[in-house]
Amino acid sequence: MARKLILHAGDPAHRPPDVHALAATLADIGLIATPLPGLLAAWYAGDAFLSHVIFLGCSPQVEFEPGDPQQAEAGHFCHVRYQRQDAGPVFRSSAGRLQPRCPGCRGRLEQWQELVRDWPSDHEATVPCAGCGRTLQAPELDWRQCAGFGRWFLEIWNIHPHEAVPTEALITRLEQVAGTPVRYFYE
Ligand SMILES: [Zn+2]
Repeated sequence: MARKLILHAGDPAHRPPDVHALAATLADIGLIATPLPGLLAAWYAGDAFLSHVIFLGCSPQVEFEPGDPQQAEAGHFCHVRYQRQDAGPVFRSSAGRLQPRCPGCRGRLEQWQELVRDWPSDHEATVPCAGCGRTLQAPELDWRQCAGFGRWFLEIWNIHPHEAVPTEALITRLEQVAGTPVRYFYE
């Protein structure tokens, strides 16, 4: 499974932006180029991709084209996809161990697995923070950029956790087209 940098709405219930409006904006700023063949809402990286997604290493090896059909199939090259969840918001997370924290006191929450398990059927479920007593819903926790909730996700493929970050300008542009605050995490 290719690792991803994922931008999404801070509000998990936020309605997915129209794919045509989104694609027009992303093409306009050069984040995306032409559509990837055989996939819906997926595009090659555009000319200005590297000015919107900043790699933190000194000499990143960024592959924008798959070298062979297996690499193409696995999505192991840098490209962009838009994924909607029309049935309702979902929880997505990176493969490693999650350690969400209370946004109030920064304490670790131990019962988060129950909260995530119940979340698809009960968006109002809460856990009390053992540290400060604050009552928290799953999307309110600080997932430390390892998880996110939502009905839509703008996925930047083949990026390892914390290998690259979106610029403030990209986030702002996305907030304008989506009409809501945007956050990101790694999957
Ligand atoms: Zn707390």
